[in-house]
Amino acid sequence: MGRPLRVAIVGSGPSGFYAAEALLKQSSPPVAVDMFDRLPTPYGLVRGGVAPDHQKIKSVVAVYEKIASSPSFRFFGNVQAGKDIQAEELKSRYDQVVYAVGNESDRRLGIPGEDLKGSHSATAFVGWYNAHPDFQGERFDLSVESAVVVGVGNVAMDVARLLAEDAGHLEPTDIAEEALEALRQSRVRTICLLGRRGPAQAAFSPAEIQEIGSLESADLVVDAGELIVDEASRKDYQDPKNKKNVDYLKERAKAGEGTRPRKIRLRFCVSPVEILGEGGRVKAVKVEKNRLALGKDGRVKSEGTGVFETLPAGLVLRSVGYRGVPIPGVPFDERSGHIPNAAGRVLDAPGGRPRPGEYVVGWAKRGPTGLIGTNRADSIETVRMMAEDAAAGRFCPASAPDSESVPALLKKRGVRHVSFQDWKRLDVLELARGKARGKARRKFADVSQMLAALGEKAPA
Ligand code: NAP
Repeated sequence: MGRPLRVAIVGSGPSGFYAAEALLKQSSPPVAVDMFDRLPTPYGLVRGGVAPDHQKIKSVVAVYEKIASSPSFRFFGNVQAGKDIQAEELKSRYDQVVYAVGNESDRRLGIPGEDLKGSHSATAFVGWYNAHPDFQGERFDLSVESAVVVGVGNVAMDVARLLAEDAGHLEPTDIAEEALEALRQSRVRTICLLGRRGPAQAAFSPAEIQEIGSLESADLVVDAGELIVDEASRKDYQDPKNKKNVDYLKERAKAGEGTRPRKIRLRFCVSPVEILGEGGRVKAVKVEKNRLALGKDGRVKSEGTGVFETLPAGLVLRSVGYRGVPIPGVPFDERSGHIPNAAGRVLDAPGGRPRPGEYVVGWAKRGPTGLIGTNRADSIETVRMMAEDAAAGRFCPASAPDSESVPALLKKRGVRHVSFQDWKRLDVLELARGKARGKARRKFADVSQMLAALGEKAPA
């Protein structure tokens, strides 16, 4: 076509960057990538999701910086698809568009009391302690004694650990200052984690549960009677990850209550059926005990037994998975909560026909599963489809492929886009602000603060 293939990637988390990496490796035709993010800052959940006491995991951004250093890569931060630029406008300016928008919302429990004061999604709690601009208005009452975390995935492990950890350990990290102060003053003593199925079905990774078990400030308390590996669970127990979890918990159960000031009580085979309140505030969680049974799909499921228990709780964090948010003009499957696709090719409806030139990667493609690295192979798969389609001419070439067309459109609309060089200036500022206080980084938690800071002179 006598010019590079122009590709827009919407979203700058791991899946977006791995897609960019695979695209930029192509040489016939060469690819020019423009990456968009609604925030002025890149890296998605690596910045806004990974817990502040897991700084090592965040070092993966060095890989993304290298990708961004390609002369064929541009970043347009502070530009929201569907608001500042429409899906159709992207299609007319790019030959191919990749949605890497993750899952920005959370799943609901669908039980009475879910919206009482003091009941929050774990997503909001994570965003709050990670200084994500969307969650800075949130308030969490940590003056209560007992918290209940629903779900036993790795996000549940993160939020339980942050609640239980000695706040002193968080001081040198990049945690939001307001969150650090609130955790310092926290009076939460008991954190109860609720797994609806058994220990052989727990979603947490062995490393995450073992990290909880090695906290100095809290005992991980498990009732041996709930560590059921019955006939239905035999197959799950053969999975090395599950076996590791069960064997570890069996050992932990022997330690009993322990003597540490805080307790993390890990429960199994219990489902919340109602969040109980008093004066509009959360007071307790009513749970039903479950038994395990093998479903028709071969998956172990939980069934209520009609036996109930009430757990005191002044704070409830619902950590039962994420869910996508639709983008105007882009198909969305309400049932699954992600963009309908076949191996990354966007379909007009679940099981429908491919939409030429539109693709999806990461959680928006497959749902909220897997670790950061899982996204690499997943993005490579989508890019393979893109290359096949480009070679076969299965796309609608951009009608306005000029590289200045998008900056001009944004300028006309008064959208101040943030380039990767701008972001690097913010990065330097955040690191310097952190260093001054002995912290890894002091994040800007507000978009207007970020834009104002970009008006300042960067330190030499
Ligand atoms: P997840 O791993 O899917 O866990 C969700 C949990 O919620 C499961 O225990 C699930 O139980 C439970 N659940 C779902 N619906 C429920 C309901 N109605 N009632 C009670 N429980 C319910 O999701 P996640 O923790 O949000 O994590 C998302 C992804 O990010 C995962 O792949 C995770 O590994 C990854 N992540 C990794 C790290 C890390 O490596 N440090 C940190 C954070 C997140 P069932 O199993 O019974 O459905």
